[in-house]
Amino acid sequence: MTASPAPPVPKAATACSEAEMVEIFAKLREPAFRVTQLREFLYRKGVAGYDGVTNLSKTLRKQLAERMPLYELDAAGRQEGDDAAKWLWKARDGALIESVQIRVPGRLTSCLSSQVGCAMGCVFCATGLGGFERNLAAHEIVEQYLQMWGHSGEHSSHVVFMGMGEPLHNYDEVMQAIRTLNAPPPKGCGIGARRITISTVGIVPGILKLAGEQLQLELAVSLHAPDEETRARLIPASRRYPIREVMPAVREFCRKARRMVTFEYVLLAGINDSVAQARELAGLLQDLPCKANLIPFNPVAETPYERPSREAQDAFKAVLDAAQIPTTIRFSKGKSVAAACGQLRRERAPSA
Ligand code: SAH
Ligand code: SF4
Repeated sequence: MTASPAPPVPKAATACSEAEMVEIFAKLREPAFRVTQLREFLYRKGVAGYDGVTNLSKTLRKQLAERMPLYELDAAGRQEGDDAAKWLWKARDGALIESVQIRVPGRLTSCLSSQVGCAMGCVFCATGLGGFERNLAAHEIVEQYLQMWGHSGEHSSHVVFMGMGEPLHNYDEVMQAIRTLNAPPPKGCGIGARRITISTVGIVPGILKLAGEQLQLELAVSLHAPDEETRARLIPASRRYPIREVMPAVREFCRKARRMVTFEYVLLAGINDSVAQARELAGLLQDLPCKANLIPFNPVAETPYERPSREAQDAFKAVLDAAQIPTTIRFSKGKSVAAACGQLRRERAPSA
């Protein structure tokens, strides 16, 4: 006798379309407006599971949990720091995903992952070191936001795609997730587009496509070097998209989207932190509506890189200040919880 195949695991509510949800509710002899009630609650309140969806009866919640679980990601770990909480999620296929809630006075930001691993291979990045596993589906991205809210009880007003992965390398799913994050309830979380930041390593076709979207998203471009040679050394994938192609694409984004861009620059001692390199960077950014965000390197085991001294960081910033480029040095948010993206996952899955 052959064993009968295991029944398929039902889709989670976050993965279902409205029509699919209506069908499931209809089978339970429940009217379509209950779907709206569920979605309103999910997107307005942030819940950790069906127990929290208190506007539906207990019986219905129990029936739903069997036919349509609320979420697909399981909470697999959490680290608390003073200014950040880092979460580890396990997807249905066992993939591990990280997200972080970052606190600055008056603001809580959800930092989301867009992929499991990353194909860009940046030599200083914990995620890059592990290689690429797969893209995240839109609902796995939205779930990170909803579940951090549900589990912590704290609502993030802002979203940044600065977790694991390159968001523009998973363009369609990321955009679908952004539409859900942006849409007002009951269709989504109602986060204003200006409160959503995509951080990209500089995928030129993605930047150009983004420029054409009717969305006022924030764009951050990880530059990390003012010259092609240093950049290619730090970001192997950037050989396909050299600075001479990235800058015109960014210019086009600023023009079409009428937005200012942020350039991110990880400061690595002795590699890209000299005053001469700061001058070259200032020249590159001179006539663009932009800001610079300097990120002192967060040490990653297995890499030879070091964070520059405070003096070197300040000297670099002073050059940009003198060129009147608004510049901030990012305090290492969540340093206490191993903030550099991909680190928590690597601790858990050393083979990743
Ligand atoms: N893939 C996208 C978004 C995720 S990384 C990108 O690269 O832009 C978000 C930011 O964190 C990037 O600017 C990245 O260069 C930076 N980063 C990665 N590892 C880091 C580390 N160890 N220390 C400091 N910043 C790091
Ligand atoms: Fe990927 Fe960004 Fe890490 Fe580079 S820094 S490997 S693009 S996640």
